[in-house]
Amino acid sequence: MASAQHDDLFDQFLTQRGHETGPAGWVTEYNKKQCPECGGLHDRSATECGVCGWHPR
Ligand SMILES: [Zn+2]
Repeated sequence: MASAQHDDLFDQFLTQRGHETGPAGWVTEYNKKQCPECGGLHDRSATECGVCGWHPR
């Protein structure tokens, strides 16, 4: 009983996180990617922000 309740809460936690972050947080601008944290523009091949160090989880 207690473990079933725990699983429910854990599922809710994961669902909420998924809605907040998404698979990739880059903002796409033309052929560039924009960092959602500092607004820095990067090539589409960039895997992390060179300005503030942000990267999609
Ligand atoms: Zn940044």
